[in-house]
Amino acid sequence: MQPFSYTKVTSQEVAIATVNQDKTAAFIAGGTDLLGLMKDGVQTANILIDINSLPLADIEFQTTGIRIGAVSRMTDVAFHPQIQECYPVISQALLQSSSPQLRNMATVGGNLLQRVRCSYFRDPVFPCNKRTPGIGCSAITGYNRMHAIFGASEHCIAVHPSDLAVALAALDAVICIQGAEKERRISIHDFYLLPGETPEKETLLQPGELIVAIEVPNSAYKSHYLKVRDRASYEFALVSVAVALDVERDMIKSARIAFGGVAPKPWRARDAEKLLQGKPINEATFRDAAAVAIKEAKPQTDNEFKIELVKRALIRALSVVAKES
Ligand SMILES: Cc1cc2nc3c(=O)[nH]c(=O)nc-3n(C[C@H](O)[C@H](O)[C@H](O)COP(=O)(O)OP(=O)(O)OC[C@H]3O[C@@H](n4cnc5c(N)ncnc54)[C@H](O)[C@@H]3O)c2cc1C
Ligand code: SF4
Repeated sequence: MQPFSYTKVTSQEVAIATVNQDKTAAFIAGGTDLLGLMKDGVQTANILIDINSLPLADIEFQTTGIRIGAVSRMTDVAFHPQIQECYPVISQALLQSSSPQLRNMATVGGNLLQRVRCSYFRDPVFPCNKRTPGIGCSAITGYNRMHAIFGASEHCIAVHPSDLAVALAALDAVICIQGAEKERRISIHDFYLLPGETPEKETLLQPGELIVAIEVPNSAYKSHYLKVRDRASYEFALVSVAVALDVERDMIKSARIAFGGVAPKPWRARDAEKLLQGKPINEATFRDAAAVAIKEAKPQTDNEFKIELVKRALIRALSVVAKES
């Protein structure tokens, strides 16, 4: 591992200014992703700026919704009583992420910015366009069972690994960002980028910008997170789905659906959402929505099975929320 220096900061301005001035500096929060990448020689940083002492760990309920500080631990957010009551999809997504030890250490800001779990990306022996632009993608011709069926490009087919991001996409969350000059608020849908010709660019975050909080608007939606994986815990999603439904007298007023494990960013199924609007809650409706949700799917050589999994996961998640509505 390349040597690096480490500084703990208590001022947001100092943290941002340091990373702005030195392009070899990086923020470190829980360190559960960054340090692994540094040990594997995938990512380098000469200076790590520890942001854990910044006053960014509050979870506040406001009149418009909740504001979750970026260095809140995954565990604290998952077990927050009001989040469990009002936004169960967030709590469920977090509790199905990582392991208890990792969740105690890892932050929500770090979770949203974790790098892809493509094994070729994480092993510098293999060519990877995300690590070295233009060098080629080993997954396209290699083993790609875990990879994308939506939103991929000929340059990268990796999926975004965060469960939390999928839950937040179904809740239309906003990412609050502080830079050296200004503060920005970006919808989670715009925050993540598709790989296109530049798979090395994963988000709209500029160098030196700090995520300070995540805001989730109030809503009348009932929600649920369903994750399908190879083993019951401590595993990334093959397919996951976050569903939020607003139901009145057994009719769906509005629906939001986001998939994980299938695309380079949380994948909103907008056509399926439109289909559900104004329909009765029953299995036939859910099956129609599932058929629409997979229309644009383009599987890789090893993951055609994900198409059926997406359909079944969506039908099951919708059925769970329908029972609670
Ligand atoms: C074995 C294993 C299994 C896992 N399983 C899952 C899973 O099933 N689901 C899931 O969602 N995740 C999973 N994870 C990922 C884990 O949740 C992440 O490692 C963790 O959330 C990262 O948070 P962190 O605070 O440790 O981030 P760090 O490692 O500290 O940082 C990650 C990146 O974000 C940057 N960063 C951190 N905070 C900020 C900020 N506020 N503003 C700007 N930049 C910032 C850092 O510079 C770094 O580039 C797993 C991880 C491991 C190791
Ligand atoms: S899928 Fe993306 S991350 Fe994986 S090897 Fe190809 S370019 Fe790299």
